[in-house]
Amino acid sequence: MGRKTAVTFDPYAVPSPSYICDEKKLRENLNLLRTVQEKAGCKIILALKGFAMWSVFPVVREYLYGVAVSSVNEAKLGREEFGREVHYYAPAIKDDEIETVIQLSDHIVLNSHSQFERYRDKIKSSNKKVKVGLRINPECSVVTTEIYNPCTRYSRLGITIAELNKIDLKEITGLHFHALCENSANELEVALRAVEKKFGHLIKEMEWINFGGGHHITREGYDTDKLISLILGFKEKYGVDVILEPGEAIALNAGFLVASVLDIIRNEIDIAILDTSASAHMPDVLEMPYRPEIVNAGEPAIYPHTYRLAGGTCLAGDIIGDYSFKKRLNIGDRLVFTDMLHYSMVKNNTFNGVELPSIGIINADGSFALTRAFGYEDYRNRLS
Ligand SMILES: *Cc1c(COP(=O)(O)O)cnc(C)c1O
Repeated sequence: MGRKTAVTFDPYAVPSPSYICDEKKLRENLNLLRTVQEKAGCKIILALKGFAMWSVFPVVREYLYGVAVSSVNEAKLGREEFGREVHYYAPAIKDDEIETVIQLSDHIVLNSHSQFERYRDKIKSSNKKVKVGLRINPECSVVTTEIYNPCTRYSRLGITIAELNKIDLKEITGLHFHALCENSANELEVALRAVEKKFGHLIKEMEWINFGGGHHITREGYDTDKLISLILGFKEKYGVDVILEPGEAIALNAGFLVASVLDIIRNEIDIAILDTSASAHMPDVLEMPYRPEIVNAGEPAIYPHTYRLAGGTCLAGDIIGDYSFKKRLNIGDRLVFTDMLHYSMVKNNTFNGVELPSIGIINADGSFALTRAFGYEDYRNRLS
């Protein structure tokens, strides 16, 4: 995944394992997103599901309007640490959460007719003013990895036009769709066409529409001009405000996972055991699945020394992949995995009691700051 990334820090000078955010690269992404906001006249908010490293929220909030959240915990973090707009959407909200959700949120997007009926009066009668929207399902699959396709058949995510026709929309100020994952502006165009075809007659009645996440805006080659013209065209046609809520695009290629070689063994092939784990520290490697890039390493047999890189848990399948290196690996060597900021620390776990990676920042001036280290208490406190 991602372009070749140069490392601007000494991997031996940071803890291992650790996730390292590169502030300069983060700001490059945010600058591009700011340009989109300015040229398209839209709002971009950060989806905390993909990236919730709150020690850099002061940086992110210089550029973005707020956060998209999907749980009370995310909403609290957004309110406390980001401090701008909080847009709430979840597949279902619990009765004992709704009051907190109302107090924490500026927008609440409900996922179904019954959730809307269940909470409309509570939201309406609250002294906290909240904009209420509905998530629609455009039933248009542009995502080919099924686990990430919100429009797959029988999807629970969003209201189909057949169901929406049964709802009185007079208290609804906006619509939300999320149909993309790592997609280009071309795929957004396809999704927008489906949204317009099915829901166009209702959009004119709305104040705002949220195009969801999955816009890979900061990827090399992404056509931002096309994105901007799609948003401008949509705003002009329907007279609505447009919101985007990407997660991945904010942190794309803006950070690393540093790990160490603990042992090198042989079982027909050379295997290096690391102090990190696919299963615990980069679960998308197994879930998506995908092959992360490593600085100064390549596909097997490109360079003279090929190793299978394996995690430190007892799970047989805790394997990151096969990589080749110019020099033989040694115990204690540091490896730098690129593009490890999004969907990594938000999904990691203490499976097998492996330690969680520390979290740090390479500041814009090149200095390193360790923002978090984890210990036994973090493992213990999740159990009883
Ligand atoms: C996952 C998700 C996002 C963020 O998606 P990215 O692929 O990280 O940009 C935004 N909105 C909703 C509703 C989501 O489920």
